[in-house]
Amino acid sequence: MADRYLSLTGTAPGRFLTRRLGLPQPAALHRWSPDRPALDGPVFHLTAGPSSLGLAPVLARTGLTVTTRRPEDTVGDPADGSARPAAVVLDATGVRDVDTLAGVHAALHPVVRSVAPSGRIVVLGAPLDPADHHQSAAQQALEGFTRSLGKEIGGGRTVNLVRLTDAGAAGSTLRFLLSPRSAYVSGQVIDVLAAAGSAPQADARQADPGRPLAGRTALVTGAARGIGAAVAETLARDGARVVVLDVPQAEQDARSLADRLGGTALTLDVTAADAGERIAAELPDGLDVLVHNAGVTRDRRLVNMPAERWSSVLDVNLASVLRTTDALLAKGTLRPGGRIVATASIAGLAGNAGQTNYGASKAGIVGLVRSLAPRALAEHGVTVNAVAPGFIETRMTAAIPLFLREVGRRMNSLAQGGLPVDVAETTAWLADPASGAVNGQVVRVCGQSLLGA
Ligand code: NAD
Repeated sequence: MADRYLSLTGTAPGRFLTRRLGLPQPAALHRWSPDRPALDGPVFHLTAGPSSLGLAPVLARTGLTVTTRRPEDTVGDPADGSARPAAVVLDATGVRDVDTLAGVHAALHPVVRSVAPSGRIVVLGAPLDPADHHQSAAQQALEGFTRSLGKEIGGGRTVNLVRLTDAGAAGSTLRFLLSPRSAYVSGQVIDVLAAAGSAPQADARQADPGRPLAGRTALVTGAARGIGAAVAETLARDGARVVVLDVPQAEQDARSLADRLGGTALTLDVTAADAGERIAAELPDGLDVLVHNAGVTRDRRLVNMPAERWSSVLDVNLASVLRTTDALLAKGTLRPGGRIVATASIAGLAGNAGQTNYGASKAGIVGLVRSLAPRALAEHGVTVNAVAPGFIETRMTAAIPLFLREVGRRMNSLAQGGLPVDVAETTAWLADPASGAVNGQVVRVCGQSLLGA
């Protein structure tokens, strides 16, 4: 279902009219494409407080031109001829108290106006120090700062916070956030704190950054259509051999997608008791990336919800994810260096009327990820993360009545719905062999939905 309002505000008269009426102003987002794969301008590297992060070589590998600015540098107006930044990275890892926090304002206040449309602001923070409440207060302040700036900046620009200790381990995360691939990811706080060394081959594929998944096998459940199909396509673009899994009724779509991607189709119902065994049997050489995407809704208010509606949603969205994950880890099908990406939803974080079953199942995914992630990494060398989509333009959301659909689309900082490819790009970043230090994270792909934190 095309977003006609977005098309309207893309025209001069439409923009004039909707501005006069005080209506939302969604900007056409710059997404990755082969002919426009990178942001269109330099990245400014700013610092607030002292820093020993060693960010320069990591930023150099983003492919963007890096302009390093010291806090005392005065910043020219874009009109003075200096190039407009497409991105700003603010290293605030050295912020330890309210005084040094002022460096965040000092660094960003002069440049924020000049960030190009669809530009990126990435704030880098440090983990909270439990022994230092001044440091914890100042570092937690970065979260409120980031989310507030994301809500006010507009123009398709995004603002995210990454907490890290090792710039090298955050390379894939910075490449993702400083690229058009993260167009619909804003207002997120991402911890890149796992010991990357515990995931073998964590950064082994730097030789071919365009195809980080070359030589790897990925399986995507519910991949015959919608978000799952986009995930399969994006992982194949990044070099993976993809197994397209869906129910037998979707066999034709699954096969034609698999043929197009040079992969294979596997038809089975993920709720089958032996689903894990059948997947393992299909992949005797092992699996590197497991994407739990299959999901269903059976909406009804609790007062009208029969037990069958509850259990069918819990079974597809949560119980089957637990069962197949357990089976594939126990059998060693998921190889060391492997990646599990599960699919949550903002309905699981913020709750949604008529979706007690769905919200419970998706919140359950968050619990699964947080509990399993440290153990799966320590015992199997496998990371476990989740994507939590907001309003994504798919058949699922096309079925929502017009008024509610419009509200769903606009109630986020980018004032538009996301596309399946936005979830797919986020999944591809989490699946990257270089993302070994990203573990136990739930990353929302929601344009910074106004629902939930
Ligand atoms: P969709 O209905 O278009 O596609 C879901 C796919 O999963 C279908 O191909 C379906 O056949 C398959 N599937 C369903 N049950 C299955 C089973 N038992 N075994 C194997 N395959 C099964 O849905 P979508 O919009 O692409 O959503 C994909 C995922 O993203 C789901 O987990 C959904 O809950 C989640 N999500 C979607 C949105 C959104 O806005 N579309 C928002 C938040 C979360």
